[in-house]
Amino acid sequence: MAQARVFEINRPALRGLCDLDDSHVWDAETEPDRDYAKRVCGHCPIEAACLTNALEEEGSSLPAVRAGVRGGLTPQERHALWRRIHRTDRKAAA
Ligand code: SF4
Repeated sequence: MAQARVFEINRPALRGLCDLDDSHVWDAETEPDRDYAKRVCGHCPIEAACLTNALEEEGSSLPAVRAGVRGGLTPQERHALWRRIHRTDRKAAA
C-alpha cells in the first residue's frame, strides 16, 4: 500500500479508506489499479483534506516525482490542478 494517510480534522486520527486496504492500488502502477483507487477515494470521508494536503506537500513538483493516487487524483491530475490554481492566483493578483 502507498503511504497510509491519516489526518487530524477536528477530531483525532480520522483515517482514509486506503488505510483499511492492504493492496497496492494507490501506487497506481496500472490503469485498473488507478481506476479502482480513484473510485474508492470518491467515497472517502477525508477526500478533500487528503487532496489539499497532497497539493500543499507536493507544491510545484512535476508529475514524475508525485506518488500515486491521492485525494482521488493521479499525479498528472494533481499537477494540472496545482497549475490551474496558481495561474488563477497570478491573474487575480495582477
Ligand atoms: S482520498 Fe483516497 S488517498 Fe486520500 S485518504 Fe481517502 S482513500 Fe486514501
